[in-house]
Amino acid sequence: MTMDPKFNKTDPAEMLDYIQPRFREILAALEEDPTREGLLDTPKRFAKSIQFLTSGYRTCVDTVVGKGIFAAESSEMVIVKDIELYSLCEHHMLPFFGKAHVAYIPNKKIIGLSKIPRIVDVFARRLQVQERLTAQVADALMEVLQPLGVAVVIEACHFCMMMRGVEKQNSKTITSAMRGDFFTDPTTRKEFLTLIK
Ligand SMILES: [Zn+2]
Repeated sequence: MTMDPKFNKTDPAEMLDYIQPRFREILAALEEDPTREGLLDTPKRFAKSIQFLTSGYRTCVDTVVGKGIFAAESSEMVIVKDIELYSLCEHHMLPFFGKAHVAYIPNKKIIGLSKIPRIVDVFARRLQVQERLTAQVADALMEVLQPLGVAVVIEACHFCMMMRGVEKQNSKTITSAMRGDFFTDPTTRKEFLTLIK
């Protein structure tokens, strides 16, 4: 069953108005006092912050790429590494954060380098599991650029493991998605993995 909250989805302010009183109820349910001074504006701040952290639902790859694709002859590997990444795990809505490394092999087209971190954010600013986030970034680049291959590696720390549950502070989760030449050609894959070390 899908829930469809009744407010004007094209108006960001209406979403904030919808979330605030509901979050105030959650504060009360937690045995806090939403009327005390320090918490008076917290529902508003929470609504704004969660709206931003999930803004990936309200944009798409085509919008962020815009006119950022150019003709080119090169078919050498392009790597953007150490892209800062912040997302929310869908199971606990706690942050996970780390780095993404993205590579592609052009097929007559290249993409503006600043577009790659922006594609990462389209998917990171949603409720995620790291595995799906990794695959979505790879598949989006394959679709928008039709390159000979795409590789994505994400390394991240998960607050839901650090603050609760197993309480392991130093474990990192590493996921990868290989498409095209990176999937079929071990030499290409190895070159990428060596370069992001
Ligand atoms: Zn979690």
